[in-house]
Amino acid sequence: MKQPGVTKATRQRSRRIRWIVLGVVLAAMTAIVTAHQLFPGTGKWVGVDALCPFGGLETLFSLLTGDGFIKRTAVSSVILLVGMLAMAVVYRRSFCGTICPLGTLQGIFGAAGRKLFKRRFTVPVAVDRVARYLKYVVLVVFAVWTWQAAELVLRPYDPWAAFAHLTSSELLTTNAIGLGVLVVSLLGSLLYDRFFCKYLCPAGALLALLSKVSVLNIRRDADACTSCGRCDKACMMNVEVATADVVTSAECISCNECVNVCPVPGALTVTAPRRVRMPAVATTAIVTAVIVAIVGVATVSGSFDWQQPTLAETAAAQGLSVQDGTFDTSLIKGKTSMAEIVDATDIQGSEFTAEWGVTADELEQPMSEIKDKYGFSPEDVRAWVEERIAE
Ligand code: SF4
Ligand code: SF4
Repeated sequence: MKQPGVTKATRQRSRRIRWIVLGVVLAAMTAIVTAHQLFPGTGKWVGVDALCPFGGLETLFSLLTGDGFIKRTAVSSVILLVGMLAMAVVYRRSFCGTICPLGTLQGIFGAAGRKLFKRRFTVPVAVDRVARYLKYVVLVVFAVWTWQAAELVLRPYDPWAAFAHLTSSELLTTNAIGLGVLVVSLLGSLLYDRFFCKYLCPAGALLALLSKVSVLNIRRDADACTSCGRCDKACMMNVEVATADVVTSAECISCNECVNVCPVPGALTVTAPRRVRMPAVATTAIVTAVIVAIVGVATVSGSFDWQQPTLAETAAAQGLSVQDGTFDTSLIKGKTSMAEIVDATDIQGSEFTAEWGVTADELEQPMSEIKDKYGFSPEDVRAWVEERIAE
């Protein structure tokens, strides 16, 4: 079957549209997380953590075990995780190649590097092969560590979190290591395309695993292919396309660059089941529509909440209240602040300051952050609240 409408203009349009999507997402994310830093406390601008689909995975264990969201994650993180995974089921690591703003930054540096050095560098094959497994190690280590610690342990090392804090005083403290990883990843991408994606990204590792069940795949027609090798040269992930029948590499980020540079109509195409060929540009539209639809439906239905429910909201959602004697103190966790307990019960803030010695400001902080200073545990506070409610 002839590849539908493949002309130079079509290929350029495909590339342009992918870059427009990448650019819009990067600009929007940068604007939102920067506004969050510049206008703190307004509650209007969401922080980077609640906009990170990997945060959805990080908080999953805590949610499944009934401990609620870990600090800084929210329903929005889980919805974005669903969107990212749905994209992978449709077209492999298309989130990496079409949406991810950190990927876009690396792409920009990669393009600059090619202009600067007039060539594309490659890591020696033996080193590259082993180093690519690093991202799976990062995924497993941080997933297990996060689930045990019930907090975002990856955050201090996260280059995207560091990027989101470029205008924050936390950049050189809390985010200092992440800033180092960001600098290394971007400078690394000047020489070796998508340096962080290839070797370190845990989200990329997760999507690589899921890419095995993808509906869409890139297929090469060996009869039409002239073995010109342009597809191999164009691939920023160094996937060997020119000798593959179907691109099955977990490294492929579904950017369609190989398809877009192939000079022979029909030699390299994106195919759906039954080998139905699709224009590359359509795949960009489809995967973008998938995540936009998921976030859109969640937003319209009022579910795309980027703030965690408070203790009072959680209790109300479960039909529990102090007044009718059904309040469940097991809802009080280490991440709960004493101010939240005040809101959810009839105990006064002054009683907390008198009993536990905390300041009025510290009432607003999660108990896990002040417990060591005062030598109490959230369990102590929970038992005290139970007694106070029973009086
Ligand atoms: S194989 Fe093709 S679609 Fe996959 S990363 Fe390489 S150039 Fe992009
Ligand atoms: S660019 Fe097209 S024709 Fe050239 S090697 Fe790749 S698939 Fe074959």
